[in-house]
Amino acid sequence: MKPASFDYVRAESVEHAVQTLSGADGDGKIIAGGQSLMPMMNFRLVKPSVLVDINRIAGLDRIELRGDRMALGALVRHRMTAEDALIAEHIPVLHHAMKHVAHLTVRNRGTFCGSVCHADPAAEMPMMSLLLNGSIHIVSERGKRVLSAGDFFVGSLMTALEPDELVTEIEVDRLPAGTGWAFEEFARRHGDYALAAVAITMERQNGVATNVRIGLMGVGETPTRMPQLEAMLEGSEVTERTLEEVVDALRSAIEPNSDLNASADYRRYLAGTLTRRALSDAWLRARDMQS
Ligand SMILES: Cc1cc2nc3c(=O)[nH]c(=O)nc-3n(C[C@H](O)[C@H](O)[C@H](O)COP(=O)(O)OP(=O)(O)OC[C@H]3O[C@@H](n4cnc5c(N)ncnc54)[C@H](O)[C@@H]3O)c2cc1C
Repeated sequence: MKPASFDYVRAESVEHAVQTLSGADGDGKIIAGGQSLMPMMNFRLVKPSVLVDINRIAGLDRIELRGDRMALGALVRHRMTAEDALIAEHIPVLHHAMKHVAHLTVRNRGTFCGSVCHADPAAEMPMMSLLLNGSIHIVSERGKRVLSAGDFFVGSLMTALEPDELVTEIEVDRLPAGTGWAFEEFARRHGDYALAAVAITMERQNGVATNVRIGLMGVGETPTRMPQLEAMLEGSEVTERTLEEVVDALRSAIEPNSDLNASADYRRYLAGTLTRRALSDAWLRARDMQS
């Protein structure tokens, strides 16, 4: 398998990258880790005329804590996210989720932003950016814009990114100290794409759950938040009964697809089971912060 022929440009700066993209008449592609793009090119599922390599651009590989947000630059590799002390301390759910992404060799090259741009519905990082209220920072020759993760994902492998745009960084929430969290995933083998996964964060105040977030993947064309379930849990104690009610509501709310790997019914059942486990774990992890 070989890709169709293409021109290769090693960008020296963000300006150079967007200028090259803009000159490609909608037919250019950014290459970051290449872990998703190269297989797609080898299968000739994509045939860019110009490949714009951003790997030598200085300053895009930073992870920065900015108040209550954490910024991950376009060249932050999965392995950096997995090993970064700030992320482990302030966003433990992201630190943990990264262990489920592929294998070490893929994590050495693949990037957080590349995964979000690729928008595979079975990939962990798009869901994490949605769960953590991600802001996608985008630049082109036409200027800069910032999109919320909710507006960014429009379908399976489809985003709101225009062909001449480059993502420079993604900002996500850091979690207040004492936040409970959990990540549950089921894949056939470790490192495979998930059949379904759920990520949850919640705080606990005066014995009840607050600021509950529930993210799901593998049950639709894009990752999804479950605001109706978050609202059910807000201000409640997480008991066996609440868990039953939330899981029933979840199974009624989602409409997964059937595919080669699993039927829609199986995915619906699985999503409920994973959510139940994750809610119990997040609740147990949350430290009570009495007001
Ligand atoms: C064997 C294998 C197993 C894998 N398993 C998993 C898994 O379990 N979970 C998982 O989440 N992922 C998995 N992956 C995918 C991996 O995480 C990829 O690294 C990731 O999806 C894409 O990141 P990348 O940096 O390699 O992007 P690339 O492959 O370089 O690019 C992917 C797409 O995003 C675009 N892009 C990249 N960066 C930017 C940018 N800054 N601005 C604009 N567009 C950009 C590219 O043009 C391309 O369209 C697997 C990959 C392999 C090869």
